Amino acid sequence: MIPTIQASPEETYDIELEQSLLQANAKLAAENRAQLDHHGVTAIDFMGAIGSGKTTLITRLVEKFKDQLNLAVFNGDATTVDDVNLIASQGVPTVQLATVNGCHLDANLVGKALLKTDLKKVDLILIENIGNLICPAEFPLGSRARVVVVSVTEGPYMVKKHPHMFLGADLVVINKTDLAEVMGVKVADLARDAHTLKPDLKVVPTSCKTGAGLDEVAAALLAVTKSGVHA
Ligand code: MG
Ligand code: ZN
Repeated sequence: MIPTIQASPEETYDIELEQSLLQANAKLAAENRAQLDHHGVTAIDFMGAIGSGKTTLITRLVEKFKDQLNLAVFNGDATTVDDVNLIASQGVPTVQLATVNGCHLDANLVGKALLKTDLKKVDLILIENIGNLICPAEFPLGSRARVVVVSVTEGPYMVKKHPHMFLGADLVVINKTDLAEVMGVKVADLARDAHTLKPDLKVVPTSCKTGAGLDEVAAALLAVTKSGVHA
């Protein structure tokens, strides 16, 4: 018998603080969304662990979109400027969101980034969240859709061990499929775990190396973007 210590609710002494924090964030997220909708701008945020390939996926999407849409990219990163520099080198307006907590973006920071963005000149904002599969799920940002990126290199249990993240997703990208065989991870098993949590979830296997699946991801995000454009 393996001893287990189960935390009781009484032990979470900051629970009231957390509740008001989440409520405040939800209110700011709604304000961000109202501001985006007012300008006919769509925001889509990308969540996933460090190393899942969020930045590389965004660079591929920027390549696909930049001739047809006016883009901006916000990069959440508490420690380096590598990601934002890479995106900026593609000639897209970018904002670095350096969080203090280091573990999730919040609607307050995204609101500040919106103030630095000329919303009249933007159609689509891609937001890279902090590399973390836990708390970003609890902090909506005001985006129209949330994408979760999970890669086969993270092993076979990433989906089932992060249910909140996948329950809150509108699209799941299973990335680095070119490495699935060598990792001994079955893409179909990760997709099945996602569908067990949320049967109607759209799941797209991708490889940014071979380009597989990227057109399908782009089409899905374009459909979300078009749905947000004013008639
Ligand atoms: Mg990154
Ligand atoms: Zn966090």
